[in-house]
Amino acid sequence: MLVTMDVPATYARLCGEVSHFTKEKTGTSLVDAYFGPEALDPIHQRKGKSPEELVGEVKSLIDGIRDEIDSQLRADHLIGECESICVVVEWLAGRKIPYADLVHDIFHIPMKRFSDRAIKERIAVLDDALTGFSGSDLRERVAFFVKRGEITGAQLQHLIEGELQTKAAQVGEMFKRRIHSVMGTDVTDNGVEYQTVRGAPWSGYNWYQPGFKSINQFNLDVTFNIDTLYGVIFHEYEHHVSNLWREKYYRESGDLELAVVPLHTGRCVISEGTADTAREFLGVVEDNPNIKIAEALNTLRRMTSINAAIMLNDRGRTVDEAVDYMIEYGFRTPESARSAIGFISPRTSTGGQNFWAPYIFTYYFGKTDFVLPVFNKAAGEGELTRFFQTLYLNPYSGSSVTWKQAFDWLN
Ligand SMILES: [Zn+2]
Repeated sequence: MLVTMDVPATYARLCGEVSHFTKEKTGTSLVDAYFGPEALDPIHQRKGKSPEELVGEVKSLIDGIRDEIDSQLRADHLIGECESICVVVEWLAGRKIPYADLVHDIFHIPMKRFSDRAIKERIAVLDDALTGFSGSDLRERVAFFVKRGEITGAQLQHLIEGELQTKAAQVGEMFKRRIHSVMGTDVTDNGVEYQTVRGAPWSGYNWYQPGFKSINQFNLDVTFNIDTLYGVIFHEYEHHVSNLWREKYYRESGDLELAVVPLHTGRCVISEGTADTAREFLGVVEDNPNIKIAEALNTLRRMTSINAAIMLNDRGRTVDEAVDYMIEYGFRTPESARSAIGFISPRTSTGGQNFWAPYIFTYYFGKTDFVLPVFNKAAGEGELTRFFQTLYLNPYSGSSVTWKQAFDWLN
């Protein structure tokens, strides 16, 4: 008997079931956003299936996709997402997976470490940027720079709910003027609301809401740098924009799988990569030297966090060793290094599995190995309109699995 499978609905249902499993194991749901029909909302899906059942069903779904989905890009995108989800379930169920395989099998990218030389070169860039700041050596100058821009608590809350909310609206206008206007079709944008929270494992997060809007939350427990915060606005706003186009595509095409926005798949690599390239997309040239310094420092810290994640998860080094490394090469204070550990450590502070442990690679490599080179090439060939249309009008382009295929017109 031949039974055809409703692939998109099965995918949505399974994502919901897996989201209960990841939430139970780690406190974090696999599903980051959902804007589909009520009946398939993750919260209504069955709880308590065993990991074996879940993996078995996702694997059958992969066979179903091969049989039922005709568009190559759509099928490849969906199979890639399903493969990642299988690995997430197996990993959280306790299967021993080497960290390099975990990063590769979830995000479809290699686990790459930065050489000592690459780190030294970045330190030299930072050193250059900080010429003119007072301090007897680079560490003192970094400390001085960081201290003068520090913002936290009530002052941070005031800034986020006031000036940054206004700035975000301006960034929204820039997207409208420079990018949405060339797409050949309109998208609704009901904006981004800024909120503050405490006790989160991240510093900032974009929660996309059904109906073309987002809530951006900032963690008041974190000490931000005022110059870095402006960069965060661009990053988070681009997440919002990419979800706007995804929701529009879903509403017009009915492709139900797009109504589920999962974490820990090839999608995240492109999503973080485009978010980190938002300023290039918008042609923003910063004339504020402090923003350039903050960027140089952040890049160095991202690179050293990646190396520290490899120390902790792949090389069996201790948290103290990783903290020392981030202090020495990322020019962090002990407090800053300790707080960065929360995101990359294999275990959470309460001893559970850390859902975020493999995630750190998505930002840097999403930008440098995927989004930026293609964006630059398109810019060089006068093809930016087609670049943005490929990126935003076709959400199936947005995965490390399908990216090259989606942009093969550029070669
Ligand atoms: Zn992000």
